[in-house]
Parts: sequence; C-alpha cells; structure tokens
Amino acid sequence: MIDTEKMLIIPFKNDELSGFESVCTEKNVIEQAMRILIVEDEKGISSFLKEGLEEEGFAVDFAGDGRKGLELASVNDYDLLIFDWMLPGISGIEVCREFRKLNQTAPVIFLTARDTVQDVVFGLEAGANDYIKKPFEFDELLARIRVQLKTRSGEQTILKLDNVEMNLDTHRVFRGAKEIELTPKEFSLLEYLIRSKGKVCTRTNIIEHVWDIHFDSDTSVIDVYINFLRKKLNQSGKEKELIHTIRGVGYIARDE
Ligand code: CA
Repeated sequence: MIDTEKMLIIPFKNDELSGFESVCTEKNVIEQAMRILIVEDEKGISSFLKEGLEEEGFAVDFAGDGRKGLELASVNDYDLLIFDWMLPGISGIEVCREFRKLNQTAPVIFLTARDTVQDVVFGLEAGANDYIKKPFEFDELLARIRVQLKTRSGEQTILKLDNVEMNLDTHRVFRGAKEIELTPKEFSLLEYLIRSKGKVCTRTNIIEHVWDIHFDSDTSVIDVYINFLRKKLNQSGKEKELIHTIRGVGYIARDE
C-alpha cells in the first residue's frame, strides 16, 4: 500500500479521510498532554490563547485574576505557566514570587504590555523564565513555550531521519554534509513528519500541526509542500526517498 513514487500528487478529497483520523494520534504526538495555566484578565487574549494552545495539543486552565491564578498554580501540577503582569487582586509579579516560594520550578512566561528594561529585569528576578511583550504573535509565544518545555525536559534539539539532521535551535537542516535551505513552513512540515516518524500523518493532522488553525483552503497545498520538501531533500536525485505517500491517506517519514 505504500507508494514510494517520487513527486506523485494524488487528487484528494476531505471525505476520503474519514476512518483514518486515528492513524496519527490526534494532537499529542508532540506534546504529551502538557498542562498550561494562563492567568490573564483580558478575556479576548485569554480565550485566543486557550484556543490556540488547545489546538496545539496542550491542556489549558485559565484564571482571570491573580488570586485565583495562585490558587490553581498551588494545587495543580502545571508544566508551564503564563502570567499577565497587571492583574486584578494581586499582580502577576506577586503571583510569580509566591509560586516560587512554594518551591515550584515549572517555567513561567510573563505576558505583558510593560516593556522597559527595568520591567524585564524585575519580571525575571521575580522568578520568570521568559518574557513576552504585548502585542505578541501567537507563533512567537508558542516557540518560546516549546523552548521552555524542551529545556525542562532535556529534549534533544536535533531530530534525525536517516542522514537528515534538523537542529531545532539553529533551524538548520543537513542531509549528510550538505546544508538544506528550507522555508519556515517547509521546516515545520519536516519537523512534524520526523517527530511522527513511522506513523502515517493524514493531511488533516498536517494542517492542524503545521498550518494555522483557521486554514481552510484545499488540502492539496500540502501535496505541493511535500513536493518542495522532497526536491530539496534530494537535490541530486540520487538520495533515498524518506517521505512516502500513503495513497488516499497522507504521508509517512521512514528511515528504512
Ligand atoms: Ca492585564
């Protein structure tokens, strides 16, 4: 059933996916049900964050003021916490200080409109691990969350597939000794496929992980990107094919 023909684009309809949804276990291929607490009083921001992070496979709790935030942070075991600075009740800074007094070591990211150097220093000294200024891009926050979680779990920053090496810190990719220049989307696509190595990824899985949550156009864009990626990974035309087409379902990255 595995089709290793290169550059093959299969016309594909969404309804062909039904029944294959569980092939690549939902969202948690990458984040094994990491739990995040958001303490933020601006409803628009917190619901946007909650939705975005849940789409990425995180379990997300939310508190709208400092006291509630500290209460949740004290009783639950979070992998990461996001604190707004200016909060009703007690400030994010106070919440962070109190949280650290409980000998809690989970990473804390501040999200705030305060942006002077003194503010940054103050935030970090209160025990925050990172600091993002509003307005912010969701992708940047997500990248910083991943850095914190990776640092904490000691996760490898090099992903390998056969003789392809991806460095997630420097965003450089090599096949053997040759460097491969990828666009950010191609990079994310390859990262997702390698992290899911040996598992079939449906086009829906790929869209959910690599494209943004509101992406609603034709899934054939994925086939186009897969072709870009295959060409870049095999510039001489003599390398082993690593990304295989599973006809009617999606793609799989395999070593052998
Ligand atoms: Ca606020």
